[in-house]
Amino acid sequence: MPNQAQALVLLSGGQDSTTCLALALEEFPNGVHALAFDYGQRHRIELEQAQKIANIAGVPLQILDTRWLAGLSTNALTDPTLPITHLDGKLPSTFVDGRNLFFLSLAAVIAKQKNIHTLYTGVCETDFSGYPDCRADFIQSLNQTLNLGLAYTLKIATPLMWLTKGETVLLMQKLGHLDWYAHTHTCYEGIRPGCRQCPACLLRLKGFEDAQLKDPLEYRAVTP
Ligand code: ZN
Repeated sequence: MPNQAQALVLLSGGQDSTTCLALALEEFPNGVHALAFDYGQRHRIELEQAQKIANIAGVPLQILDTRWLAGLSTNALTDPTLPITHLDGKLPSTFVDGRNLFFLSLAAVIAKQKNIHTLYTGVCETDFSGYPDCRADFIQSLNQTLNLGLAYTLKIATPLMWLTKGETVLLMQKLGHLDWYAHTHTCYEGIRPGCRQCPACLLRLKGFEDAQLKDPLEYRAVTP
């Protein structure tokens, strides 16, 4: 019997995946599982926050050890000695080659084992990152490949694909879980409260400004 009443959510501890978790619970109130990846990311705090958010949402979280990913390529997300840069015409230094390709493939196998047919990921083409593995055409292509490769019907749901950060914030408010954002992690500096000044904090705050809502996350005081 296919398990149509359950979904698996990729939960990174960030704002977008947390919104996906809230959306998944709307659609699958009886069975949401969360999955996070330990891939040697710069900030371990993301995993701690993912666990806190899963606890608040009342869903089980599995953390999969994928630290081998950090050894495959050089990037600023797994090597803290590298600067975070985004030069014109180039991919950001935070791009981890193959990350979503591997994560979604691993998640698909886990979903199949659990007899789950819906996989949520918070990838978004409208944010400025320019990551090729966040694009809609990549997700559609991989979805087809996974279904063929696993001989299984899985749907990769990307509800935030075309939303701006402001629209995502408004969606979370509508879902009634804006308070969950207090536990999400965004800051590139890896600190809580957030630094308020790095590109990630600025993008996040711009989203709240556009939505005309107050971010429940704590930030450091502005330094003169
Ligand atoms: Zn920051």
